[in-house]
Amino acid sequence: MKRLPPLLKTVTLTLLLGGSPLFSPAVVAQSGGSATLLYTVKAGDTLYRIATERGLKPEDLLRINGLATPTLSVGQTLKLPSGTSGSAPAASSAAAPAPTPPAATQKPSPAPKPVQSASPAPDAPASSAFGSNVIAGVTVRAPARLKMGDGFVLRLSGEKAGEAVVSFPSEVGEDVRKPAEPLTPIGAAGEFQVLGRVVLGKTTPLVYTVKVGTDVLRGSIPVSGLDQPIQHLTLAKSLTDRLTAPSRPLEEKVVEAAYALRTPQAWSRPFAAPLTTKSVSSSFGQPRTYLAGGPVLYHYGMDFPAPVGTSVRAVNDGRVVIAATYPVRGGLVAIDHGAGLVSLYFHQSKLLVKVGQRVTRGQIVGQVGTTGLSAGPHLHLEMRVRGEATLPTEYFNRLWP
Ligand SMILES: [Zn+2]
Repeated sequence: MKRLPPLLKTVTLTLLLGGSPLFSPAVVAQSGGSATLLYTVKAGDTLYRIATERGLKPEDLLRINGLATPTLSVGQTLKLPSGTSGSAPAASSAAAPAPTPPAATQKPSPAPKPVQSASPAPDAPASSAFGSNVIAGVTVRAPARLKMGDGFVLRLSGEKAGEAVVSFPSEVGEDVRKPAEPLTPIGAAGEFQVLGRVVLGKTTPLVYTVKVGTDVLRGSIPVSGLDQPIQHLTLAKSLTDRLTAPSRPLEEKVVEAAYALRTPQAWSRPFAAPLTTKSVSSSFGQPRTYLAGGPVLYHYGMDFPAPVGTSVRAVNDGRVVIAATYPVRGGLVAIDHGAGLVSLYFHQSKLLVKVGQRVTRGQIVGQVGTTGLSAGPHLHLEMRVRGEATLPTEYFNRLWP
């Protein structure tokens, strides 16, 4: 459990003011001999329009990107086949400025900028939320800006990308598990990724380093806060007693063991929502007190209200590492997806999987309930990157957050 720094109380929504991108947008990733264009989805984009403007069939775009549905989210990166660049006049995206996203999406939509790239620049879509830099022949692409609680991905491409070692030195001194852990990118064929996380409470820039041989690239990404007032919960004593239940240390021990797992990436398709319902009752990152005068804690997950008995589905492929009932989390399932990513499903009335079991995306793992520290039937979903909570909805319909 983490205390909220007093600073947060004065933080306003600085998301759209969070400084300019540190790197010039780049859109080229070399994979073998052929170039793949990358396009970052802007507010107002549809898969159909992105495809047809480039003379592509929408179904081909779905296939190339391994998408199950045409639903796109702002900031999502799409691969476009090489050779389509000529049919994507940069003028068309520049002439139609992206509408400002609704504040609720909390995603910046940078204005289109001219492409500046060391490599021969294709006439590619001009807007990208990513910046890039090159080290020892490895192209490193990072988000231009982040907000606290974001999960994100650093993309490394090039022949030696698999030999890189990535770490996040700005984590040293922060309230995170295993700060600045040396991370080996995962992937194949010259395209590699490393998952990153911005701990809740952080608003200082996130610093990353990429080492390839003796070369070191250091980058910095501005981070903004979440504008959420502290919510003071008044819970029945029978509920708050759960915070001090005798089996609480065991509950934390089991969960920490899941956070410490570093297994190979188990998924190859985009993530899916755990319930069919779209309604969300309590947002991720909400600062809360559970006891009058008690410490302020963040809400590390997202709540999905649903009737008791509603099927809870795995958000992606993985292995069940927890399936038991605990005082605070109630009926809990945790799935290790590999790559340091674990999803957790709280408060279930019924658990339908066992520890060690392999599950696939969409497979039913249990049923919604109101067990543990819960005031009504709902699913609380957490997406933890190396133990730190990240915004769950950023994963849905995407291969990476
Ligand atoms: Zn919750």
